[in-house]
Amino acid sequence: MILDMECERCRLCRTRTMVVPPSGDLRSPVVLVGEAPGANEDRLGRPFVGKAGGMLDRLLIEEGIPREALMITNTVKCRPPDNRRPKGDEMAACRPYLLQELSDRMVIVAMGRSACRSLLGREVTLEEAANTRMQVSIDGVAINLIPTYHPSACLFNLKAREGLRRTLSTIRDEFL
Ligand code: URA
Repeated sequence: MILDMECERCRLCRTRTMVVPPSGDLRSPVVLVGEAPGANEDRLGRPFVGKAGGMLDRLLIEEGIPREALMITNTVKCRPPDNRRPKGDEMAACRPYLLQELSDRMVIVAMGRSACRSLLGREVTLEEAANTRMQVSIDGVAINLIPTYHPSACLFNLKAREGLRRTLSTIRDEFL
């Protein structure tokens, strides 16, 4: 389903400023999936432009990956009020958009527990799952999925930062 910039599929439409579409190379073999837009994203209409985005940009630069080489998106396209986690029914309402974005990719990087839950349909513990190789079926096609830490976790947690760095170095070496 093509993203509707006037979407009203869930309650988040009532509190958002704007729908936040994916950014970067919309045909990239690699998609990074975050959780949900925050206040800055809601205002500017672009994913990962706040503090977490600054951390992601820093790690991408350190790993020699141009941000424009990737597609970056979120499990839900509208900001949840007070930056709470998106609820199950909100992620479900937005999933048709996410699935359309993810079709025909070589690898999906699921950043954080919400992205993992939305894409795998179950909870994961990142201490166990980060940087393991998984697959998800999108439109009946198996696509590689790598669970990893969310950039906001990397702001204060060095283990998370090294985990996300390792994921980025893997996608640089294997998929770009
Ligand atoms: N910004 C986003 O676009 N997504 C997140 O998950 C966090 C910050």
